[in-house]
Amino acid sequence: MTNPQSERPIIVAGAGPVGVIMALALARQGLAVQVFEAEARVNDSPRAATTHAATLSMLENLGLVEEVIRAGLVEPKFRVWDRASREIIAEFDFGILKNDTPYPYVVQCEQHKLANMTIERLKRLPNVTVAFSSRIVNVAQHDDRVEVDVQTSAGTQRLTASYLIGCDGGRSTVRKALDIDFEGYTHPERFLVLTTPFPFDAEYSQCSRNYFSDPEEWCALFKVTGDDGKGLWRLLFPTRLNETENQAFDEASVQTRLQRFFPKAGSYPVVHRNLYNVHQRVAASFRKGRVFIAGDAAHVNNPLGGLGLNFGIHDAVELSTLLGRVIRGEASPNTLDFYERYRRPLNIEFVQQQTIANKKRLEEKDPEARSRNNAALRATASDPAAHRAYLLRASLIDSVRRREMEAA
Ligand SMILES: Cc1cc2nc3c(=O)[nH]c(=O)nc-3n(C[C@H](O)[C@H](O)[C@H](O)COP(=O)(O)OP(=O)(O)OC[C@H]3O[C@@H](n4cnc5c(N)ncnc54)[C@H](O)[C@@H]3O)c2cc1C
Repeated sequence: MTNPQSERPIIVAGAGPVGVIMALALARQGLAVQVFEAEARVNDSPRAATTHAATLSMLENLGLVEEVIRAGLVEPKFRVWDRASREIIAEFDFGILKNDTPYPYVVQCEQHKLANMTIERLKRLPNVTVAFSSRIVNVAQHDDRVEVDVQTSAGTQRLTASYLIGCDGGRSTVRKALDIDFEGYTHPERFLVLTTPFPFDAEYSQCSRNYFSDPEEWCALFKVTGDDGKGLWRLLFPTRLNETENQAFDEASVQTRLQRFFPKAGSYPVVHRNLYNVHQRVAASFRKGRVFIAGDAAHVNNPLGGLGLNFGIHDAVELSTLLGRVIRGEASPNTLDFYERYRRPLNIEFVQQQTIANKKRLEEKDPEARSRNNAALRATASDPAAHRAYLLRASLIDSVRRREMEAA
């Protein structure tokens, strides 16, 4: 493959799902790419699983969609329940989007599987390297290049790149090196994820994505295939204010929480317990000169709706396309301004707004507001045009269409 960017590679910080998809999208254009990941392996803590229609189309273009579908669970529906009464408030079915997308469903595929399968693809390409246990610690920007210090157990090495892309997560070193504000706020509570092989299938097998609205303690229940393919259920709860990690992870309190959610004989087997800080933040800028940020480095949100990683993958597709065109001389360097101009407002409108609204609806305490919300959800689900409109937004198809309209 030719390397049209002369001798300097593009450096990607972070081999999370966004970093490796960014690398694949660049490398498939023949560009030389070096990925540096601080940790020794891909992080496999339970985070993203829901992959939406718009993202599946992008993964198709990258040659990954069939493997993602094989590794995951295809789920056309999701349900919103009233936790206390155990009644379904509304059921949504992505099948209604059958004329809008070849993928009228989500695929529940854990993000470490997506990252690892992408890394396997990268290994087959001669123009890309992925180095683990290699932390980017410093960045210096020049008119014609970026210098990056990479720290390994052997010491720190200075490398030169044509461009640097920080896909190094919410605490991004690259974003901080550029001195870019991470505007927004952090929720006071944390989110607790408990993962169990207990088969919730008796009650929920018809649907592997369930949200339970409750004024005291909302919950989300999702099924994933797990590493052995046998199936695991993840339960997501808000912690109580000031609840410590020890209190949240304590076996008795874990069992109480699960039994209160779904009483059953005997205790629950719990294979993972994880606690996450939850933020709604968007970087003030997604680029400075030859350095960009993407994925969680550029924006973070609560996981209700399953949008954060999806949008990060869309960032990767957008930025890799723009960089390819500029490096090949098909477009002027100013074209790179489109990245921030489009991605930042789209994140605010489609990801921040939806996830904030989803959380607010699940946790609403005021009985009148709850009944209004429930009535609105029922009305949306029962009207085909409203149902379709709601899911076009929820699946990020609308955000992709908006971008296409703006580009036209
Ligand atoms: C409970 C939960 C559920 C979620 N569910 C969904 C969902 O269903 N759908 C969805 O779309 N999103 C979901 N998300 C959000 C999703 O997990 C994130 O958006 C996603 O991980 C972002 O990927 P990333 O590659 O940008 O960042 P990360 O996954 O954080 O990866 C960043 C990588 O960079 C590495 N790194 C950090 N600093 C450096 C450095 N200085 N040098 C080199 N490497 C570095 C890190 O080690 C890491 O491997 C969920 C999040 C949580 C917490």
